[in-house]
Amino acid sequence: MRSLVAGNWKMNGLKAESLELASDLAGRARSGAVCDVLVCPPSTMLSDVGAVISGSGIMLGGQDCHALESGAHTGDVSPVMLADLGCSHAIVGHSERRANHGESDAVVTEKAAAAHKAGLTAIICLGENAAERVEGRAKEIVTLQLHGSLPEGASAANTVIAYEPVWAIGTGNTATPQDVTEIHDHLRGELIRAFGDDGNAVRLLYGGSVNAGNASELLAVDNVNGALVGGASLKPDDFWAIVESGRPD
Ligand code: PEP
Repeated sequence: MRSLVAGNWKMNGLKAESLELASDLAGRARSGAVCDVLVCPPSTMLSDVGAVISGSGIMLGGQDCHALESGAHTGDVSPVMLADLGCSHAIVGHSERRANHGESDAVVTEKAAAAHKAGLTAIICLGENAAERVEGRAKEIVTLQLHGSLPEGASAANTVIAYEPVWAIGTGNTATPQDVTEIHDHLRGELIRAFGDDGNAVRLLYGGSVNAGNASELLAVDNVNGALVGGASLKPDDFWAIVESGRPD
């Protein structure tokens, strides 16, 4: 399956540096990208970054979305607004949102459903924390999160799953290829259980301290169909090295 490498810029980047990063990546993408590439800037920069990457093949995504289309929800961004700005994807259920905003699986399901309704592909994030891994509960936790966060109508065409062990995010503690194989094989089985054959076509991304040095071994793991990249997505050389580790088909 063709890889998807997605950059989650998180709450980083003022106008000048965001545009510089976007135009650097767009220049590289215009010469051809090995796999699919997505950038998820902060919502303040979606419009401007969208203009810079337009025509380069790089896709635009939001880092979160509200479950409703509009209304009295100060500070929130709706999936319809993301689509209106040219986004094709929305990340939902990132562990930082689950932790900092108390987002439960039920909330993540509603957000994913709203993203679908707006025509966006939902990137649903899940992953165990350090204590859960030490207790040997990683598979149990990701299974519960997966089935608890998939809305009705989810399919390979509108849903991407990102396995992001919380202990690996922003820590430099990358999961080993063995850890990743074990969880991704398990998630693939669960996706087939949920969707039948279509479960084979759902992209499964790995995220958690992916960098230029470890991307090729992680992206070579069976059932790893790309990466969700945080810190390294802010460094164009590093991010592009990760893109170049992706598979064309
Ligand atoms: C992320 O935020 O989704 C992430 C994986 O971050 P990092 O690559 O910095 O660990």
